[in-house]
Amino acid sequence: MQQQTLESLYRSACSSYSRVPNPDQCFAWESVLSKFRLDEIGRALVEWQADVTEEYDGRPRGKTFPSPADLAVIVVRNKRINTAQRQFTPCNSCDAGWIRVFQGTTVAGKQIDAKVGALRRCECWWEYLAEYYGVPRSELAAKLAKLKRDREKRKRAA
Ligand SMILES: [Zn+2]
Repeated sequence: MQQQTLESLYRSACSSYSRVPNPDQCFAWESVLSKFRLDEIGRALVEWQADVTEEYDGRPRGKTFPSPADLAVIVVRNKRINTAQRQFTPCNSCDAGWIRVFQGTTVAGKQIDAKVGALRRCECWWEYLAEYYGVPRSELAAKLAKLKRDREKRKRAA
């Protein structure tokens, strides 16, 4: 199967709206949407297409080609809903937030047995946790370390 990219998603959106892809517009999609996961953008596109809210010209919203900002609004809204419901939605390339790796080292620093492999948290899980704790992904490790310290402090105090 061909690897899906934001550009291929844009192109398939164009073809479902019978539009000729436009490099400037493709660039706009990339600059607005590249911070989101492809599966999230794909879902947002499907939701947009199903939107029957009447526009000022009387046409259902989903009949007009979405701007990248339109899709970004849906992605962000869905993330918020997921977080609110404490629902973790794994991406398509892992098993419920876990991936099996066959090289490198474990969290504890042990060499991974190439025959057995080891389970590692997928990036989608870390993104979900960052969202859950309301911190940027880059600050998640520090946040988790702090939570662990606080837990240990409470344990010592008890
Ligand atoms: Zn994943």
